[in-house]
Amino acid sequence: MSLSRLFVDAGLGAGVEAPLDEAQVHYLRHVMRRPDGAPLLLFNGRDGEWRGTLESRGKKAAVAHIAEQTREQLSEPDIWLCFAPLKRARIDYVAEKATELGVAVLQPIVTHHTIVERVNVERLRANAIEAAEQTERLSVPEVRAPMELGRLLGDWPTGRRLLVCDETGGGPPIAQALASLDEAARSAPWAIAIGPEGGFDAAELSSLRRIKDVMAVGLGPRILRADTAALAALACWQALVGDWQRPTPRLHADYRTSRGTV
Ligand code: SAM
Repeated sequence: MSLSRLFVDAGLGAGVEAPLDEAQVHYLRHVMRRPDGAPLLLFNGRDGEWRGTLESRGKKAAVAHIAEQTREQLSEPDIWLCFAPLKRARIDYVAEKATELGVAVLQPIVTHHTIVERVNVERLRANAIEAAEQTERLSVPEVRAPMELGRLLGDWPTGRRLLVCDETGGGPPIAQALASLDEAARSAPWAIAIGPEGGFDAAELSSLRRIKDVMAVGLGPRILRADTAALAALACWQALVGDWQRPTPRLHADYRTSRGTV
C-alpha cells in the first residue's frame, strides 16, 4: 500500500496522536479508502518526518498514531521570493513550483505596474502544503499577504541580501554574479525580487538598488514572463548558492500526498 504523506500542525513524537483535519480525513477515508492501521508519513516543519498509522476517532474524525521518526528536521535555505501577484493559474503555479524549489517565504509585492492586487493567501498556502507533501520537503513555505514594494523595502531586514532580476540590462548574468560570492554572502539570508508583467519602473529599480548588498542580475537575452523569471532565478540560486549543492537522497519509493499522487 502506498504511503500518504501529510503536513500537520501538531507536535510529532513516538506515541503522539496527531489530529488530522477534515480534508485529510475525507481524502484518506473516502478517496484513498484507507482502513484503520494504514501507514502514513507526517511532518510539521519542526520535528522532522515520522511514520504513523491512521486511527478513527468516531464517524468523521481521525488521528495519526505516531510511531517512529523517519527523517531528522534539516535546516533549509532562507530564501524569499518577492514577486508581483499574477493571474490565478500562474500565481498558483508559482506557489507550487517555488515550494518544490525550496523557497522559505512567498512575498507578493504591489508595484506600479502590478495588474493583480488581491491574492487568496489561503489558496496559495493550500497549494504550498500540497507541493511540500509531494516534494518530500520537511517544511512548508510561509505565504504572506501582498505588501506595497516601498513599504517592504522601507523595513528591509538587516543582513538579508537581495537579488533583483533586472531585464533592463542593469546587471551581470546571474550565474556570474552568484559564482563570485564569498562564503559570508553565500550563507546569508537572501531574497529574489521579480517585477510584474510591465516590469519595475525606474523609481522602483532605484529603490531596490539602494538596499545594502543588493545585486541586480540578468536572466539571459530573452524577456521572460514574471512566473518564468521567478522560477528560473530561484533554480539558479539553489544551484549556485542554496541546497542543490547537497546530494539528492532518494527518500520514499512510493507514497501519495494527502491530496494527490506522486
Ligand atoms: N519589461 C519587460 C518587457 O519589456 O516586457 C516586462 C517585465 S518581465 C515580463 C517581468 C519580470 O521578470 C521583470 O521585471 C524581471 O524582474 C524579470 N525578468 C524577465 N526577463 C528577464 C531577464 N532577461 N533578465 C532579468 N530579469 C528578467
